[in-house]
Amino acid sequence: MNQIAHNSLLGLHLAELTLLVEEFGQPSYRARQLFEGLYCQRVETAEQISTLPQDFRRGLAERGFTVGLPRIEKRFVSSDGTVRYLVAYPDGQSVETVWMPQGDGGEAGDGSDAGNQIEAAAPGWDRATICVSSQVGCAVDCQFCLTAQLGIKRNLTAGEIVGQVSAVLNDQGVSPPHQRVNLVFMGMGEPFLNYENFIKAVCLLAEGVGIPESRMTVSTAGIVPRIYDLGAEPLRPKLAISLNASNDATRTRLMPINKKWNLEKLIAAARDFPLRNREKLTFEYVLLDQVNDSADNARELAELIRGVRAKVNLIALNPGPGIEFHTPAQTRVLQFQNILMAAGIPAFIRRPRGRDIYAACGQLKRTLELATAS
Ligand code: SAH
Repeated sequence: MNQIAHNSLLGLHLAELTLLVEEFGQPSYRARQLFEGLYCQRVETAEQISTLPQDFRRGLAERGFTVGLPRIEKRFVSSDGTVRYLVAYPDGQSVETVWMPQGDGGEAGDGSDAGNQIEAAAPGWDRATICVSSQVGCAVDCQFCLTAQLGIKRNLTAGEIVGQVSAVLNDQGVSPPHQRVNLVFMGMGEPFLNYENFIKAVCLLAEGVGIPESRMTVSTAGIVPRIYDLGAEPLRPKLAISLNASNDATRTRLMPINKKWNLEKLIAAARDFPLRNREKLTFEYVLLDQVNDSADNARELAELIRGVRAKVNLIALNPGPGIEFHTPAQTRVLQFQNILMAAGIPAFIRRPRGRDIYAACGQLKRTLELATAS
């Protein structure tokens, strides 16, 4: 009931809204109307929920309850159609949320395309993906990632995570479930270091906003105990693990979190993860020139994940200021992919989206810095 203290309605589940409407002396079915207004209609003020009686709407406002939809402070539109949003919260903190009209949140080959061809395509896009942030900044310190340079500012609440999606859907004029939207929790932050809020947001997005859990993917740098927790959730997204190296020495250099949970523990968690029918795990692998992208690395990786029902998403490094690594030549990326494929591992090369507006993987931060500096 944390969010009630902040008087923000977004982030409250049906059970919590039921307690709230009862506090107002309203019948409990009002909670459902409130829930639908908040998550399906995605209203900006409770005043706009016309199914609720006037005096209840007024009462909510008088007691200081607001919807708590974040404000879109800036938008940057890429030549490839990607839009990077700077989404601001009332305390002055902000995160970045990315709209990719043609996907490439890495969904190729993970089973989420099943049935795609029978779905009606909206004009201009048919499989949009929203890349969602889970924290302001990040504590994990991956050496190739710009968000890491911010450090961690704070966790986002469940309502703040849902609010990013709502604000972007409102801006795009798109409504699930009849319009197909995928979500990837791959923006700023480590979702598994904000687990409770992240998982609550997933429930609200599935049950309220109407985005099926099968169209959501969460990516982790490898917080092993939370991988086991996710596997036990009744409602959960698909899992992607940011591997980024084929041995411990390289992984520790790139991702210091590897000292806490090394490859042996991480791959054990991946092997133990209870996959559903036709579901595959995703391993993400950022290719850094001459660091982790050799033919030997590819063979070592194939050996490491042998037998896991998984695919590999290869991402050539998206460069940025202060990042000491380089993007490999396309021939090296293709060689890496070919070795994995020859070993029987499905491997996909992720297209960089929105590089020209710094919206690509690992580039989310610079507007935030500018915004907080001014
Ligand atoms: N903390 C989570 C989610 C955010 S990062 C995680 O680590 O998975 C999402 C993905 O972007 C990860 O796979 C990460 O390895 C990748 N990434 C980070 N920086 C990148 C960069 N500069 N270029 C390409 N991919 C990057």
